[in-house]
Amino acid sequence: MRYAVLGDLHANLGALEAVLAAIERDGVDALISVGDVVGYGAAPREVLGLLREVGATVVKGNHDAAVIGELDTRWFNPFAKAAVEWTADQLLPMETAWLADLPMTAQLEGCSVAHGTPIHPERYDYVQSTDDADPSLDQLGRGVCFVGHTHVPVTILRLADSPERTSYTLDDAVDLSNARVALVNVGSVGQPRDEDPRAAYGLFDTESMRFELNRVEYDIEREASRIRAAGLPGVLADRLYLGV
Ligand code: ZN
Repeated sequence: MRYAVLGDLHANLGALEAVLAAIERDGVDALISVGDVVGYGAAPREVLGLLREVGATVVKGNHDAAVIGELDTRWFNPFAKAAVEWTADQLLPMETAWLADLPMTAQLEGCSVAHGTPIHPERYDYVQSTDDADPSLDQLGRGVCFVGHTHVPVTILRLADSPERTSYTLDDAVDLSNARVALVNVGSVGQPRDEDPRAAYGLFDTESMRFELNRVEYDIEREASRIRAAGLPGVLADRLYLGV
């Protein structure tokens, strides 16, 4: 099975279209989205529609939950909060219902998926260190779990020959055949924060157990204009150029 794994999309249509075109060339069996389909960007309906069209397996992110009123935006920064409120106004009832129906986690052939962490996914905790990853790795025991949420790609893993030790790698290509358990953050399609503004997505082959993180250019100017034209905070447009 070959999966394409899409990190936080955040209503960025140009980035999603560029990634889907790249995936078409890669040739995959199925698509996965680790959530945060909406929020920040100005094309929530288009992104949601495209994701449904390609039949991706999608889990619920914190912005998805906030837009449908399932998550208090008290802890969101003012720009994120403004985007959540704007997005909620845009969506049709059937689109809101689609977001509401998204599962918190998904179990697929050869891997699992969550937005923040597979353990207590409803808390939307951030994994930013090996310590942060340990409870999830303990719970998983074995296998590969894909996550997003931080918008920063990283693979945190325990190798089969030293299962007590948690390590990480920032490599774009990772051989997971020696991993007992791994938490793989695929970065973000629509709002990268690793200082590389190109859209990020992952490819995972369950037979070779090879994971690969790819980057693809897209028309940032067009998405930034869309954000400004929608009256969303300008910082949400500016950050796309920097990948922060
Ligand atoms: Zn996000």
